[in-house]
Amino acid sequence: MTASTETIASTLLRWYDSHARDLPWRNPPGAPLPGDPDWPYRVWLSEVMLQQTTVAAVKPYYEKFLKRWPSVGDLAAAEEADVMAEWAGLGYYSRARNLHACARQVIELGGFPSEEAELRKLPGVGRYIAAAVASIAFGKHAVVVDANVERIVSRLFSIEIPLPKGREQITIRSAEITPRRRAGDFAQAQMDLGSTLCATRNPKCLLCPLSGHCQARQSGEPERYPMKAPKKAKPLRKGTAWWIERHGSAGKEVWLETRPGKGMLGGMRALPDDGWSASGDGGGEAPITGETENLGLVRHTFTHVSLELSVVRIVAASEPSGEGQWWPLCEIEQAGLPTLFAKAARLALAGS
Ligand code: SF4
Repeated sequence: MTASTETIASTLLRWYDSHARDLPWRNPPGAPLPGDPDWPYRVWLSEVMLQQTTVAAVKPYYEKFLKRWPSVGDLAAAEEADVMAEWAGLGYYSRARNLHACARQVIELGGFPSEEAELRKLPGVGRYIAAAVASIAFGKHAVVVDANVERIVSRLFSIEIPLPKGREQITIRSAEITPRRRAGDFAQAQMDLGSTLCATRNPKCLLCPLSGHCQARQSGEPERYPMKAPKKAKPLRKGTAWWIERHGSAGKEVWLETRPGKGMLGGMRALPDDGWSASGDGGGEAPITGETENLGLVRHTFTHVSLELSVVRIVAASEPSGEGQWWPLCEIEQAGLPTLFAKAARLALAGS
């Protein structure tokens, strides 16, 4: 660390000591690590949930998960279907499958490893989560690079290489400014600075503790950073989902399937569809014949693809083919449908 990079760390940590956000998974700034054996579990759980997801969206899920599964052992002992259902609505469902697999592996290992390299061997734990858990949960020196850090560091050092290539240079610079002590607090300080002051648009440089060190601010164009390679348009897929309903003994019911464990929305409860996710534009047949009614379109964007899903109602006169179950419409909220199918259900219910 040079004198200047050391000043960046100490200045940011001082700012964090008085401006840290109060979050349910946080240890107060500068406080010793909690002796509670479930502390690494809580840090890991929050970091998995926070991937690609806002703090506001994560909070209720984090609290719900901790209430139902207070320790990593409780989560490991859960049924995968229950974990998937509790995750419904949070998106990026492979995270939930990995979460469950990781909990089981941690129990086999006798607890969370504390070293970054060991953490990276766990399911769903990449470079970012390993560094975050090692530093925040175990107080290790680790360089944590998330989107906030990319933004702050690329601005501090006016890094001209567009992402994703620029990430290498950003990581080198992040390593230079990460202190040996309080690396976890330093990572969280950057997350807070990125969320409150160094925002993507209109960064509040006048209030920023690092403004005296920031090359992008001095250039007058902080919003130019991080530079990004032009985005490719997402391919559009089209598909059909069937809303198959009947009058059961307890009122109206809809036919739900559980999607195969691998692939898009794998392991989630869902409406039957024409296979759009596997083959591009679907074309498969409904698991039942009958009179159909077109209910309209649901649009949804996944990481690599946009989808237009036609929702078609069929009133069942017989049992649909394949595996599935009749689900009471009055309890549809408890089915744990992922956002795409929850949208389709809302469309169907609005028209019934
Ligand atoms: S001075 Fe402005 S651009 Fe630079 S780190 Fe602070 S908020 Fe971000």
